Amino acid sequence: MASEQTARSRCLNCGFEAPSGGSQWDRIDVPRLGEMTRCPECGSTNVMSGR
Ligand SMILES: [Zn+2]
Repeated sequence: MASEQTARSRCLNCGFEAPSGGSQWDRIDVPRLGEMTRCPECGSTNVMSGR
C-alpha cells in the first residue's frame, strides 16, 4: 500500500479540506445515522466526503 490515493473530504460550510477519515476531522456519533464527520473549523456536519 505504497501509493494509495487519498480521498479528500470537504466542508461545504467553510471550505475546510482534509483527507477523508483523517485525524483532522472530528467525529461524532449520531443516533440512527451512525458516525458523522464534523468540521473542526466551524463545527458543521455538512461535510462532503469523496475525492
Ligand atoms: Zn467547516
